[in-house]
Amino acid sequence: MNDRYSRQILFSPIGKQGQKSIGEKHVLVVGVGALGSSISEMLTRAGVGKLTLIDRDYVETSNLQRQQLFSESDAKDKLPKVIAAKKRLADINREVKIEAIVGEADVQTLENFAPKIDLMIDGTDNFDIRFILNDIAHKFTVPFLFGSCVGSFGSTYTIIPNHTPCLQCLLKNIPMQGQTCDTVGIIAPTVQMVTAYQVAEALKILSGNMDAIRKTYITFDLWENQHLSVKSNDAIKNKACTTCGEERTYPFLSYEAQTKTALLCGRNTVQIRPSQTFSPSIGQLCSRWELAGYQVKQNPYLVSVHKDDVRMIMFKDGRALIHGTNDPVKAKKIYYSFIG
Ligand SMILES: [Zn+2]
Repeated sequence: MNDRYSRQILFSPIGKQGQKSIGEKHVLVVGVGALGSSISEMLTRAGVGKLTLIDRDYVETSNLQRQQLFSESDAKDKLPKVIAAKKRLADINREVKIEAIVGEADVQTLENFAPKIDLMIDGTDNFDIRFILNDIAHKFTVPFLFGSCVGSFGSTYTIIPNHTPCLQCLLKNIPMQGQTCDTVGIIAPTVQMVTAYQVAEALKILSGNMDAIRKTYITFDLWENQHLSVKSNDAIKNKACTTCGEERTYPFLSYEAQTKTALLCGRNTVQIRPSQTFSPSIGQLCSRWELAGYQVKQNPYLVSVHKDDVRMIMFKDGRALIHGTNDPVKAKKIYYSFIG
């Protein structure tokens, strides 16, 4: 007899019926760094039906202190995070279908997935993408679990479209600390505290316990021993809100508003998107770089090239990460010096 979920079924608000429901649901996790690793591990162990993971980054040694799905060999191989995550999650529970998308969670990708999913969870590190997720959630009426963390500070909030105020409404009313991309570091317990709240909410939604949903915005600082819970009710809902108000325009889904962020959070790294006309032959570029005496390392998903103190990672679609600078102009120069 399969008793994998016996303890979760014994938990009476879930029970057999709730477990069956969890096993039929499809969850999208956007960002598979620290938050996304923890969220997807818990959901995989809980027996969710299907998980789709989207992330644009690859594993580095500096991730291992808090990004629980990754190992030293993943960092050594520079595996894309979603590929390393899928491998680890399949070891944990082969009953769960895992879909791994290496790339950016742009509007087009999210709009393709939104009609198919039951829940969307925030594992990202910036507000540009979170406002896009907030719009997607409302346009397609998909619950959305916001979470963010930096240092020892974390916050989380459950968004049920047409029932709760949206992220825009919330942030207009509650000034939020730690909302910018930062270089102050982070301790692992902050991550686990945020995801504990997120995944508890996920289990309520997936098992059909909508009455148990938390109706507060939570922030905490584990180091300063502070914990604050703010009621989120209709009083903070803005009737004129462009995402959840009476006349919705979903402004963050427009082409112009789409994230232009080239800097990667706290990483001294700039992302370069390829131009429409550039479709690289990575094989040819590699041969050229090797001939020029650069250090080149490849896996099936990306290539890493090293010249002097400059390093570039190029993914198969031509998207590149330039390491060692926070200056987009300098990064572009480096990019063209490699592909020019
Ligand atoms: Zn709103």
